[in-house]
Amino acid sequence: ADDLGYADVGFNGCTDIPTPHIDSIAREGVRFSNGYVSFPVCGPSRAGLLTGRYQDRFGFTTNPTIDPANPAAGLPVDEKNLAEVLRPAGYTSAVIGKWHMGTHPIHHPLNRGFDHFFGFLSGGHNYFPDQLTLDDLSEVTRIWEWYRTRIMNDRDRVDIDDYLTDELSDAATAFIQAAVTSGRPFFVYLAYNAPHTPLQATEKYLARFPDIPDKKRRTYAAMVSAMDDGVGRVLAALRYHELEQETLVVFLSDNGGATNNGSENTPLRAHKGSLFEGGIRVPFAMQWKGTIPAGMDYDPPVISLDIMATIAALAGAEPAEDRPLDGVNLVPFLTGEAAGQPHERLFWRKFAQDAAAVRAGKNKLVSEGQRAQDNYQLFDLDSDIRESNDLMGQSPETARTLLRQWEAWN
Ligand code: CA
Repeated sequence: ADDLGYADVGFNGCTDIPTPHIDSIAREGVRFSNGYVSFPVCGPSRAGLLTGRYQDRFGFTTNPTIDPANPAAGLPVDEKNLAEVLRPAGYTSAVIGKWHMGTHPIHHPLNRGFDHFFGFLSGGHNYFPDQLTLDDLSEVTRIWEWYRTRIMNDRDRVDIDDYLTDELSDAATAFIQAAVTSGRPFFVYLAYNAPHTPLQATEKYLARFPDIPDKKRRTYAAMVSAMDDGVGRVLAALRYHELEQETLVVFLSDNGGATNNGSENTPLRAHKGSLFEGGIRVPFAMQWKGTIPAGMDYDPPVISLDIMATIAALAGAEPAEDRPLDGVNLVPFLTGEAAGQPHERLFWRKFAQDAAAVRAGKNKLVSEGQRAQDNYQLFDLDSDIRESNDLMGQSPETARTLLRQWEAWN
């Protein structure tokens, strides 16, 4: 999901938007209560997700510009993404939805290890078919107009006739069907742009929320509900093909809820863009029937970078030797095979804002910018999930230790 709030799924306590299908992933598997992404906005977060490496390692520190003439704006070609790692292991892979890893031809998903692409290259999109009127990014004359390009099917532009979220769900289930027919193992990166702005929903989904008075929240709820239907269809496809015990399903958002889309991060502080919890702690669940115990609540911190490491390990795929992963395989920790916790520490950096954060156990040190000692705040997340009680004055030694660790990582 894109810009989905921490509190906007049933498994994190949402009450006004039913998400039964997304919730079923947590119910049939594990809910990560401290599940993080590696950056509080879309592009860098996805670069971390797709490589299993802190994106700062390769300079992906802002959203890439939408510029088909600029090969530097995107995921560096010498980094290996999930599809590139899985291909030698026999997998067929698809990106369905949002790419955001560069618009220059060298970054096209089909040039980056994926066998199928149905979606758009930029960081967001209009949802209504009649608004998709541009044939190519070269026709864009002003900012955000890239939201109006026709959908790409592999390398071709095509017209769609349904609400975009439904079209993405169609494409995902069609790809699963084709992969099953071909007999190949598959990886689907189903990157819904919902519920990222623009807030657009069809009557079919709006009609489910007559009791939400706020128009913004109501449209947002409809967008989330459409996505939940799609997740249900994907899960149904796996059930139909009797693949539930052979398939790892992961659900997460690329960053916390945004201020502009009607999302809700309660009880977390702040929102998309911030290194407080509301920007980086996200709805995060994982299902693998028969292996991951059902109904598990897992509290130690995990991060989106772990997804690559987990998948690579399970698939017998080899990440590049000179590109060490920062994520770890989570499955042994969930089955009890591995002792301890996946991570002693997690780190965040927003280079352009000079913002920094580190979490070690219950302690988190965070600065929203201008990294002078004075700007840091220290929180005990076990007792203060809202990050409202700064312990800097009380525990200066803990803060100094965390700062040293962040500096070493940096
Ligand atoms: Ca996002």
